[in-house]
Amino acid sequence: MRHLTYFCCGQVVRCFGCSSTQLVIPTANFPLQVVDNLAADIYTGIYYGWATFGSEDVHKMVVSMGWNPYYKNMKKSMETHIMHTFKEDFYGEMLNVAFVGYLRPEKNFDSLESLISAIQDDIEEAKKQLEWPEHLKLKEDNFFHVPKSKIMNGHC
Ligand code: ADP
Ligand code: MG
Repeated sequence: MRHLTYFCCGQVVRCFGCSSTQLVIPTANFPLQVVDNLAADIYTGIYYGWATFGSEDVHKMVVSMGWNPYYKNMKKSMETHIMHTFKEDFYGEMLNVAFVGYLRPEKNFDSLESLISAIQDDIEEAKKQLEWPEHLKLKEDNFFHVPKSKIMNGHC
């Protein structure tokens, strides 16, 4: 795997047929095309990092990269939970994320409770590790602060 940090962005779409509301931990989903264009050598699993959209502050986040059962596990999916309480949904926004560290591979859980508890542990661990100075520094990266039109020819 290439070294983190890994930056990417994409429009937040409504997830088709996934049931994240069951977990009470909302995850902003990227479109399949965005996930297909990620480097092929990005492992599946749980990452942590930074995320923002619009004029929001840059917030801590965890990302799950995984295989999508809806597409018979042929397609990767990428879902970002931002550690911030938003007043409203932000479907349609261009979400910018930086993967900063890797927490663990994907796992199967025998109950919803154990899945939720693992995600809560991931969130706590991510919050801690993101306080490391080298990780805090990435919050200030140009990727988050310079309009994309200036650094990527308008491409996200
Ligand atoms: P879906 O199945 O459409 O992905 P979710 O139940 O996973 O729905 O909720 C995700 C949506 O909730 C996001 O697309 C976003 O608009 C909204 N949302 C609100 N707060 C957050 C948050 N803290 N992190 C991620 N998404 C959030
Ligand atoms: Mg979701």
